[in-house]
Amino acid sequence: MNFTSAIQAAQITCSSQADHVVGCEYISAEWLKVRARYPQIFNDSDCGTEVGPGWWPALETSFQEIVRILDEKPGLELSIVQIKEKFGGLRFYTDTHQTIGSKLTDADMSEMRRAIDAAVGQAERRAGHTCEICGEPGKSRATGWIKTLCDTHHERVIAQQQEREAQWRA
Ligand SMILES: [Zn+2]
Repeated sequence: MNFTSAIQAAQITCSSQADHVVGCEYISAEWLKVRARYPQIFNDSDCGTEVGPGWWPALETSFQEIVRILDEKPGLELSIVQIKEKFGGLRFYTDTHQTIGSKLTDADMSEMRRAIDAAVGQAERRAGHTCEICGEPGKSRATGWIKTLCDTHHERVIAQQQEREAQWRA
């Protein structure tokens, strides 16, 4: 089950639900607003997100940190290429390259890449204990598919599944 149908199954009211697109990209009007705040790293990229809004604050913290790292020593360009959920965890991929005329040394580059990896890792760890739907504290749940959810959303998902099973049996 993909995230959009998981949300619908759980009957969660989401202001941007009408914009959710089922498919490889999960671009909503809300997500586009988040992306627009970081033009430097979403520059000419049409990267959507397949993760729920509960994880966006963790992502934004890492975007801010990445922008800070890039600004500190000009010469490196970075694009966010993919943001997805896998086995209940956040996975987020970046692509970096030196700009033409960059004065960065190999040592600068590896130091920056390490700092960027740390910022990404921090977001991934934070998402690991954050409800993907609402952002409240959550943990990994196996409910047919694995999701990181708070107690409330976990209960709603379970209740909805039981309701559907009852309908199948009726
Ligand atoms: Zn929740």
